[in-house]
Amino acid sequence: MFWDEEKECMSQEDMEELQLKRLQDVVKTAFNEVPYYHKRYSEEEVYPEDIETLADIEKLPFTTKTDLRASYPFGLFAVPQKDIIEIHTSSGTTGKPTVSGYTEEDLDIWGELIARGFTMMGVDENDIIQNTHGYGLFTGGFGVHYGGQKIGATVVPISTGQTLRQIELMKDFQSTMLIFTPSYGLHIAEELKSMGITPDDLNLKVIGFGSESWTEEMRQQIEEKFQTPAYNIYGLTEVMGPGVAMECSEQNGLHLNEDHFYPEIIDPVTMKQLPENQSGELVLTTLTRVGMPLIRFRTRDVTKIRHEKCGCGRTLVKMDKITGRTDDMLKIKGVSVFPSQIEKALLSINGVEPHYQIILTRPDVLDQIEVKVEASPDIFFDNVKELVGIKEKLEHAIHDEIGLRVNVSLVEPKTIDRVESGKAVRVIDKRNE
Ligand code: ZN
Repeated sequence: MFWDEEKECMSQEDMEELQLKRLQDVVKTAFNEVPYYHKRYSEEEVYPEDIETLADIEKLPFTTKTDLRASYPFGLFAVPQKDIIEIHTSSGTTGKPTVSGYTEEDLDIWGELIARGFTMMGVDENDIIQNTHGYGLFTGGFGVHYGGQKIGATVVPISTGQTLRQIELMKDFQSTMLIFTPSYGLHIAEELKSMGITPDDLNLKVIGFGSESWTEEMRQQIEEKFQTPAYNIYGLTEVMGPGVAMECSEQNGLHLNEDHFYPEIIDPVTMKQLPENQSGELVLTTLTRVGMPLIRFRTRDVTKIRHEKCGCGRTLVKMDKITGRTDDMLKIKGVSVFPSQIEKALLSINGVEPHYQIILTRPDVLDQIEVKVEASPDIFFDNVKELVGIKEKLEHAIHDEIGLRVNVSLVEPKTIDRVESGKAVRVIDKRNE
């Protein structure tokens, strides 16, 4: 089943032709309508007519979050404010948030692209989508909402939190699809278990999750706890929100909607493009965005892309799940470490729950890593000897993964803060305190 077969199964040659035409248009519009681009491109002496092939995109400078903040709030809009009908922003935890403005056409495309993804996951007009993403300035809630309505499903806009109410509605409405961030999903699973509700009491057939980094081990735990396949949704506020790329039934990478977003992978140090199948920073150019075109936006997300005919029949370029963020990367004793590597090691060992925190300290001159992870209830309360064994196994597994010694402490179940909203705090860096 396809939502838009023509675009989703286009030959690479036709796709590139379409991308080039759209790229030329968007660069021209940005240059003519957005003072920021006009100034940048004039300074660098690169002009719309210099884009003759897709490869010419490398002539254009990057756009970063810092550029967006400098243009706060509406400086990057390419249309008069009256044509912008909705605004979202990033969380703004570090300084001013970044603003994203949408015209009516932009919202329509947003719905279309989520609808493509939902169709890949086997969702249709018969489904009841319980959307636990927050409705507000965060893009997650509304993006899913527009896509769900576009395919004609029944959307339950419950938003984040109120876990007991979530569970009540899941049962009463017999919701077939749940949308959540992995950490909130695990929280729901825990509540279900404590209430004695099993997957058989529910009617779930599919889970869509995103907006947090996760590992394959985390997905397996989610699928096991809900007895339901879980698919990855990727997006970012600046570029659109969820739906930039979504996972198909093969569960082996996400199809990136490359007719709307032109992807590049760059080496974040040399800033040069990398070939397919090499891991680097994802850079995206919006090809159809009307309200706020973004050209060569550095996402900071680390992944790789590849063209291949997918088992699902689609030809849209595939992107691996995000393995980290260039700014989440921790430098510990001079070694680059992604929190996701530690998570992967933790979840490879039986006897612990997927709730953990990484605490970095520098008691004298050397960095120290402590990883707190919750032991499974059956082990924690019954078997002290086994706990010691698990601690050693975990320290070993993490050492194998990152090449550094860590001190693991197994803590009592349910003692690490749960998230009722937003993203879990996995790393606490006290090194500069
Ligand atoms: Zn596929």
